[in-house]
Amino acid sequence: MTTDADKLAAEGRLNRGVAGGRQILITNDDGIESDALGPLTDALAAVGDVDIIAPERNWSGASHSITLYRPLRVRSTQLRTGQNAYMTDGSPTDCVRLGVLGFLKRKPDLVVSGVNRGSNLGDDITYSGTVAAAMEGLLSGLPSIAISIAAFGANIDFAPSAAFAALLARNIFDKGFAPDALLNVNVPALPRDAIAGVEVTRLGKRTYRDQLVERLDPYGNPYYWVGGPAVSAEAEEGTDVAALRAGKISVTPIYLDLTNHSLIAGLAKWDWGWSGPVEVAAD
Ligand code: MN
Repeated sequence: MTTDADKLAAEGRLNRGVAGGRQILITNDDGIESDALGPLTDALAAVGDVDIIAPERNWSGASHSITLYRPLRVRSTQLRTGQNAYMTDGSPTDCVRLGVLGFLKRKPDLVVSGVNRGSNLGDDITYSGTVAAAMEGLLSGLPSIAISIAAFGANIDFAPSAAFAALLARNIFDKGFAPDALLNVNVPALPRDAIAGVEVTRLGKRTYRDQLVERLDPYGNPYYWVGGPAVSAEAEEGTDVAALRAGKISVTPIYLDLTNHSLIAGLAKWDWGWSGPVEVAAD
């Protein structure tokens, strides 16, 4: 029987995995030029058929932005390592929407976003385009993984993080995964043998030392640049921050219900001075 995936593979549009049958969508927020995409694709091709749709530029810090008021363009390309891919002028979230809403002949069964240069720990996930792409996968009803490595710069060894992503993918396909959570993974920048283990964690706290820098442009007009190193205060046991600091891979299940349930009853007791009753949501 010839499947859609067979046809796409014959057209050279799909990175055919040895396993076949499962469709994996890879995206990222670092852009199509990221040298993490090649190793990640090779590792995941052992688990399924891989499509890549990545932004044509770096969208780090773009969070969950979507393109509303202009069209999206998609071009077929190849990674420097040879794998087939698509690149778009949209955001990481746009990449997932394209993949899920019909650009790909076969809907993905799994979304993997990464491997991101730089960790996404604790409060970082509110800024992260990497995690947002996985959020979009989750909102589309798909199991989704965001994976980041705690390293910047050139010559990063992505092999351990790519191998771990493949292990997670295999587990998700074998065991299934909760429909209301994604997995946020952070890998230390260590050789595989030096990684101290895997810890299933909760989100920790990040402390940012961002500063506002004011400088003058060549025409004498001021411009502003906000930035600084991501630092973390004391890391509590059980958090992603502590696990990574201990040289372990952190795996945090993320749930998108941001409701603070403990405040619902107390808020209902405020003096609302509003017509009609003040009701408390059934919790
Ligand atoms: Mn990034």
